[in-house]
Amino acid sequence: MIRSAIAAENAYDERISTVPSKILNSGKPFAPCPLADSCAPARSDSGRLFAWILCLLCVAFLPGCVTPTYYNVKDFTTVVIDAGHGGHDSGTSTTLGKWVTVRRVQRSRGGKRKVVVTKERVATGPRILEKDLALDVARRLQSKLRAAGLRTVMTRRDDTFIPLDGRVEISNAQRKSIFVAIHFNEGRRTGACGVETYHNNRGTPEFAGRIERAMASLPGEVNRGVKTANYRVLRKSRGPALLLECGFLSNPDEAARCATAAYREQIASRIAQAIIEQRQ
Ligand SMILES: [Zn+2]
Repeated sequence: MIRSAIAAENAYDERISTVPSKILNSGKPFAPCPLADSCAPARSDSGRLFAWILCLLCVAFLPGCVTPTYYNVKDFTTVVIDAGHGGHDSGTSTTLGKWVTVRRVQRSRGGKRKVVVTKERVATGPRILEKDLALDVARRLQSKLRAAGLRTVMTRRDDTFIPLDGRVEISNAQRKSIFVAIHFNEGRRTGACGVETYHNNRGTPEFAGRIERAMASLPGEVNRGVKTANYRVLRKSRGPALLLECGFLSNPDEAARCATAAYREQIASRIAQAIIEQRQ
């Protein structure tokens, strides 16, 4: 779960926009030539020639400023694996438990006794933290990708807090890389379940769909779809970036599944397989 952890930063960052994307998205004409003032006052032949050269340079280089980078999501050589949260930031959490049958005696207004039987969940197991599960899946994913010959970079290798901008810096320093963040989810309803994949639109919808289908093909999983969101790590990543929500810890059954090493191994295998297939 990443929403609450980065909500404050997002709220601040909403006010910041990068000029190239603003120009691209607005549909307005290109930004004025930054050398326009130099172009205008041409008083002599040599000055006029100089001005023309400057204007031609503007025309030559301006498209480079506003043309979006082409992202070939098959061409990556490095996978930056980002285990969500860490350190004092545990992410979401839950206490494992079991379902028990509870019988309660109720009395109606007329004084009649009635036995009400319900299924209730009682906490009997350990508390599990999203940051631990995410790191475990990230490590498993790393080992599988390495075995397949891919270079990997981990934004964190242990229980350390790395700021969101620090994670993005690590990713943006890698050439020909993709960014894959691992998270677990939470919902207001305990019935909410399934996996979902967010992407940053850097040529990534198809890639996101491949990973989402791979995760959702696990027994008992639900495909919640491919989505976009204004998450800081996605928005500020220069290359293709994905954020995977690998299951709801607020759902008792799904949390119990995510708590097992066997399930996390399967999740990591499906993600790794989808990444490897994407390059072929
Ligand atoms: Zn999270």
